[in-house]
Amino acid sequence: MNNSGKIARADVLIAGAGYAGLALAAALARAGLDVALADPAVVRPAPQDPRAFALVPGSRRLLEAVGAWDTIARGAEPVRRMEVSDARLSEVLRPVLLHFDAPDDVDPVAHIAPSPLIRAALFDAAKAAGVRTIPAAVSSYEATGNAVRAELSDGSSLAAALLVGAEGAQSPLRRMANIRTYGWRYDQAGIVTAIEFEHPHEGVAVQHFLEGGPFALLPLPGNRASVVWSERRLNAERLYALPDAEFRAALQARAGGRFGEIALAGPRAMRPLSLQVAANFVAPRLALIGDAAHVTHPIAGQGLNLGFRDVAALAEVIADAARLGGDIGLPDVLTRYESWRRFDTMLMLGAMDSLLKLFLLRSSPARIVRDAGMAAFDRLPGVKAKVMISAAGLSGDVPRLMRGEAL
Ligand SMILES: Cc1cc2nc3c(=O)[nH]c(=O)nc-3n(C[C@H](O)[C@H](O)[C@H](O)COP(=O)(O)OP(=O)(O)OC[C@H]3O[C@@H](n4cnc5c(N)ncnc54)[C@H](O)[C@@H]3O)c2cc1C
Repeated sequence: MNNSGKIARADVLIAGAGYAGLALAAALARAGLDVALADPAVVRPAPQDPRAFALVPGSRRLLEAVGAWDTIARGAEPVRRMEVSDARLSEVLRPVLLHFDAPDDVDPVAHIAPSPLIRAALFDAAKAAGVRTIPAAVSSYEATGNAVRAELSDGSSLAAALLVGAEGAQSPLRRMANIRTYGWRYDQAGIVTAIEFEHPHEGVAVQHFLEGGPFALLPLPGNRASVVWSERRLNAERLYALPDAEFRAALQARAGGRFGEIALAGPRAMRPLSLQVAANFVAPRLALIGDAAHVTHPIAGQGLNLGFRDVAALAEVIADAARLGGDIGLPDVLTRYESWRRFDTMLMLGAMDSLLKLFLLRSSPARIVRDAGMAAFDRLPGVKAKVMISAAGLSGDVPRLMRGEAL
């Protein structure tokens, strides 16, 4: 990039160096495309973030393909078993209604990795693949017949065949393209933090469905766990502001006694929770990926995994078009991406929302019916195996990078 009057060029300009933007940049650069990545906050080390993410097997394969997995694996905990309970806060004993076991040692249910580690590994992978990073935002853009021209907040311009919006839920590019969103805010907020257990967690992830919302303990190395804790918004604000000793006691009450006493082991963060989907994932010479296209409740830890599925699908349609020597920003390329991802996304968002609403019904009859259904489901190994394949991101039309194949 320079400001000397000559416009810089790239094959693809990606706005947003979050997880989705970095992964797409690394995948495309490794496939031989010239990629520029613009984000006012594009720096290493990764920002402080107390979250940890559950990476399902499909995402792990994508991260392997872009060269980020070896670093992530060194700081990730494999999940050997997932247990689900439907409990009241007052119940110390939480019968496991549903469980999922990893089929073998090679493919755990998921890996839990700290957010800064994933971001730093992706940043290094993108840099190693030759991605140009630009510490600026896209201020405006214009799509013409054969290119898109973007004006950046540092005063420079860049022309590319395709522009990608990966700037998260508030995506300015989505707004500039006049793409509407649908969805709603839940009357819930998510608190995230880390804790340490008294007893070994042995790679067990736990999801308790409690009165206030789902409460997940995701195992981390060092006998720690990442807490993803949803509560009604006003209660979440009250709990979040508690002094350490009371906050720990509230956490202990929700964690139950499965792994003994807990100790606080990290900072806290809180975010409002919402469901949002863009009316279109593409516009002329523009594609949206990750939270710019869809936001889901963290109930099943699928938000980032859905974003990685966008990355794998978009990288594949772009690489296929480039291999044929075609224009990678043409409508038929973008339509292929949109029809691939939008239906799959709607199915996942619908399933997560129904699951949440089902568990927020707290009357005794609702609980009896729900628990009987879960117990019956738990005894159907064939159906459970199908659900696990789907949650692993390995069902339906799986993109090549998620099948462990080259682009
Ligand atoms: C409490 C909570 C827990 C969660 N837990 C999980 C989980 O366990 N598993 C899971 O899969 N998902 C989880 N999620 C969802 C996950 O956080 C998101 O899906 C994920 O962060 C989306 O990644 P992204 O790259 O699309 O966007 P982001 O991570 O939001 O990144 C956006 C990037 O764009 C940049 N940017 C912003 N504005 C501009 C601009 N104008 N120009 C250029 N760049 C810009 C930002 O600096 C940032 O780098 C959770 C979410 C919440 C709220």
